[in-house]
Order: sequence, then structure tokens, then C-alpha cells
Amino acid sequence: MSIVVIIPAAGTGSRFGGQIPKQFQPLAGKPLIQHVIERFLLDEAVSRVVVPVAELLLSSVKNSERVVFVGGGQTRQESVIRGLAETEGAELIAVHDAARPLFTTELFHAVLDAARELGAAVPIVPVTDTIHVMNDDATVKQTLDRAMLGAAQTPQCFRAEILRDVLARAQAEGVEGTDEAGLAARFGYSVKAVPGDPRNLKITLPEDLELAESYVRQWSSQA
Ligand code: C5P
Repeated sequence: MSIVVIIPAAGTGSRFGGQIPKQFQPLAGKPLIQHVIERFLLDEAVSRVVVPVAELLLSSVKNSERVVFVGGGQTRQESVIRGLAETEGAELIAVHDAARPLFTTELFHAVLDAARELGAAVPIVPVTDTIHVMNDDATVKQTLDRAMLGAAQTPQCFRAEILRDVLARAQAEGVEGTDEAGLAARFGYSVKAVPGDPRNLKITLPEDLELAESYVRQWSSQA
């Protein structure tokens, strides 16, 4: 069973601010993206990691036997589509945010197993905040039923033919999704929710990085 992981890393990380996109911010001495790549490479089930990065970075990165960098696109979805070009022969494809360095191997394999069985799977954590739909004038319009909501994490995993079909259809129809699980559901595939991990946070704001540092310190003191 060949498993390829695509790690879209071509974003500018505008919400994080600063000069360096968040996926290159240092965490415990090395860039976030390096944590993520190394963690996947430690997993013998992974045959290749494909990393779409900003075109201008391509000359400063080097491919190796299991890591291939490609030029990313204008959106996350476009970057994942560019990554697909380097996934020939894969039976399962995982997509993982470059800014989520704290995923566990257990979570990854739970999602892989569900995708192998059902075609598509996503880690989901319950939504604990109340979520409102807002008006343009910053007033509350409507409150969503929290019991019906789930927050999606990555890695999200798919049988390769499903991910290819979903992304081709999204591109053909001009649909832009913020994750692949949502697109798969939109195009009629059943997407299994696997219990996510609250510590598997996406580094979005500088304070997320402080929290991630404390988790990494905790893990290395336990190792
Ligand atoms: O913006 P958001 O946090 O949802 O981005 C998720 C992931 O998609 C990040 O790892 C980011 O680097 C990546 N991305 C990309 N190409 C873009 C925009 C975002 O690879 N054009």
C-alpha cells in the first residue's frame, strides 16, 4: 500500500503577521514545516512527502529520495492540485497543513485506516465555542446549532482516485474549498469523521506558537 502525503506550504500566513510565513516560524529550534516533514518521514508507511512551496523558494530547497518540493498555487486548493502531480502510484493520499506540527502518528494511522476502509476520512474535534453567523455591520445575525458542528483538522486521508476526482471536479466547476474533506462531501463522497486531537492545533496566531512550544517541551521531557 503506497501512501503519499501532500503538505501545502505555499501560504503567506497573513493572519500570523510578520515577515516570515507561519510555516517557516521556528518551533523548538527548527521551522514548523521541518517538524511536520520529519515526523512523516519517521513513519515507514509513508513512501513520499510532497511539499508545494512558493515558487520563489524552489531554488533554495533540495529534493531527496522521499521528499519532493513543487511550486504551489494561489490558494491552498491549487497548491494541493499541484502536489497531486507527484503522487503517481499512490493508493492513499494524505493532505496535512504545514502549520500543524503536533499531530500524532496514532491520529494519522486512525485516519488512514478509515480512508482505506471507507474512501475518505477527516479528524474532527467538537466545537466548544458558540458560533454565530455575523452581519456586515459586526452584529450577530444567527446562532448555529453547536451540536451539529465539527472542527476539521488534518491529516485528511483519501483513496487516491477519490481525491483526484474531487479536485478535478472542484477545478472544473470553479469551487474553492478550505479543505479536501469538505470538497469530497460536496461531491457526494461519504467522509468518515475520526476523533481529532485538541492538541493538534493549527498555528495561526503568534500565541499559538507559545502553546505549541509548551507541548513540545512536555513531549521531549516525557521521551
Ligand atoms: O490559510 P490556511 O491556514 O487555511 O492554510 C492552510 C495551509 O495551506 C497552510 O499550510 C498554507 O501554507 C497552505 N497554503 C498553500 N498555498 C496557498 C495558501 C495556503 O499551500 N496559496
